[in-house]
Amino acid sequence: MSCDFLKMATVGVQGLQPYVPGKPVDELERELGISNIVKLASNENPLGPSDAALNAIQKCLKDLCRYPDGNGFILKSALADKLSVGLNQITLGNGSNDILELIARAFGDERSEIIFSQYAFAVYPIATQAIGAKAVVVPAVAWGHDLKAMADAITPATRIIFIANPNNPTGTWIDSATLLAFMKRVPENVMVVLDEAYGEYIDLPDFPDGVSFLEQFPNIIVTRTFSKAFGLAALRVGYSVSHPQVADVLNRVRQPFNVNQPALVAATAALSDSAYLARSREVNSKGMLQLESGFKTLGLDFIPSVGNFVCVDVGRDARPVYDALLREGVIVRPVGNYGMPRHLRVSIGLESENARFIAALKAVLAIA
Ligand SMILES: *Cc1c(COP(=O)(O)O)cnc(C)c1O
Repeated sequence: MSCDFLKMATVGVQGLQPYVPGKPVDELERELGISNIVKLASNENPLGPSDAALNAIQKCLKDLCRYPDGNGFILKSALADKLSVGLNQITLGNGSNDILELIARAFGDERSEIIFSQYAFAVYPIATQAIGAKAVVVPAVAWGHDLKAMADAITPATRIIFIANPNNPTGTWIDSATLLAFMKRVPENVMVVLDEAYGEYIDLPDFPDGVSFLEQFPNIIVTRTFSKAFGLAALRVGYSVSHPQVADVLNRVRQPFNVNQPALVAATAALSDSAYLARSREVNSKGMLQLESGFKTLGLDFIPSVGNFVCVDVGRDARPVYDALLREGVIVRPVGNYGMPRHLRVSIGLESENARFIAALKAVLAIA
């Protein structure tokens, strides 16, 4: 072969590093020949999907030969109703990741600067690099976004600012007053993405609701997902709420059938299953206390988190600890790729799963 196909890719794509997902359970089963594995690595809902979502999927199976509704009418209507916004403000995505990429492609190019925080969600640098834009990474303060410094970093070339609230992997969050002061400094021609993938878990009085900020600041795009609190990660469905003109722009770049029919009907059903959501939140807050108390008992520092995950400082290179936990049948997430080599990110599981993890961590740290 005389052609170097990598060199034929765009400059941005040549510099891409693929996203590294949490290790799948079957992969570890194959590698180590063990069963009874606990996966606390991808911030998934430990309850399993809601019955309402499963029933809706069952009912739609006979129509799998048909294309999905490319406009996602039923889901968009349900969302518009629930959020008191117009149908024309909602964009559906193949997971909210899809929307993050649509935003980068629609509003950025190789002349653009895109701002995000140190330790911010890994998809922001990937979406930025893929379009050949310049990533402006603003140092974090106490693991969290420094919105003052992020506003200072805006230049005439800035097109997009990504903010995860709360942030993954750190679990840190931004309060309403801080967000308001920040938004007042952002020019209207800079799109501000408020990624609220974990928003449903939070009920702190000063936690901002991005959708209500949208009225005052039309350059905000709020993204949310059905992958976390709604328990539908495998289906790949998320959405954004924005100014109608922004939604129109995103609608032009998305694929015609970017969300599949089982995902549309299951998400619609999950949205109205308030009992499931309430249970998800309860399991999460109890599980968070369980893990925090486990870490305290082991004398380990952790980053206080409002998400469904928490980063623990294992006090040494976390990679061998991660590997040793795998051998105990417990999958967590190393975050060295985020510049956090001593931390492991652990998703909140069921009580028994959390207990398994704490016991395994205790055993591993005693011998590591
Ligand atoms: C999990 C996550 C997402 C959503 O992922 P999808 O499954 O693509 O909806 C988005 N942003 C953050 C910060 C996340 O942690």
